[in-house]
Amino acid sequence: MTRSRLGQTARGIARAVALLVLWSQCFAAGAASAKPSGISWSEMERRYEGVFVLSASGKSRKVALTFDDVPDPRFTPQVLDILKAKRVRATFFVVGTRAGKHPGLVRRIHREGHNIGNHSYSHPDFSKLSLEKMKEQISRAEQEIAGIVGFRPRLIRPPYGEIVPRQLEWAKRRGYTVVNWNVDSSDWRQLGAGRIFRNVTRSVKPGSVVLMHAGGGTGQSLSGTVRALPRIIDWLRENHYEPVTLTELLKLSEKRGEIRKK
Ligand SMILES: [Zn+2]
Repeated sequence: MTRSRLGQTARGIARAVALLVLWSQCFAAGAASAKPSGISWSEMERRYEGVFVLSASGKSRKVALTFDDVPDPRFTPQVLDILKAKRVRATFFVVGTRAGKHPGLVRRIHREGHNIGNHSYSHPDFSKLSLEKMKEQISRAEQEIAGIVGFRPRLIRPPYGEIVPRQLEWAKRRGYTVVNWNVDSSDWRQLGAGRIFRNVTRSVKPGSVVLMHAGGGTGQSLSGTVRALPRIIDWLRENHYEPVTLTELLKLSEKRGEIRKK
């Protein structure tokens, strides 16, 4: 390789590294970065105390494992099997369209003692929706879920964690609790089990809410999640953490109101 070719290669690598750093910073900024509303998540958590939640106070070593984008027959049963074997109760955020296709899985989540939360009807970014459209997303998913398990969930997790203040005002009036996370496993990027394990264990603290997935898009594999989960649970217990449901962590009821099952 000539000196100039070598120089070009080095510059190419430097550029690639710079881009990678920039890209990873975009993600790493996460909770602290400016959101579409212009307010960071931590600021929203202060302003909407008890309505918009990222984690619990660290008074006990309880933590909540949360699984988005369920139900998915490829991954949700595997995650449920692991939780059952390890005797862990977790929280599942259900997408309405998916619940309609696989009601048996939603019933199983509920029957096995996990929390069920609302993750919208068709998974749009709420910050790009009008209040009316956002309300429609919540109520359609709620009807779907209530028709299966017989109650309207209190917990909401907005897709991508995106939500704006006027939507939070509405959630507050209606008695919802919007829960994002303060630990991101980044498992949706189809990482290996080791990376997922490290992402969780290096940033978990007493009171943490951990974002994971038990459902994916077409062709998206969550096999890393499935392999990492038993190790994460074992590590948490070895380090004296207690994995619990969100409603236990936050001392809330799971339901907004009882209705009759279909
Ligand atoms: Zn999602």
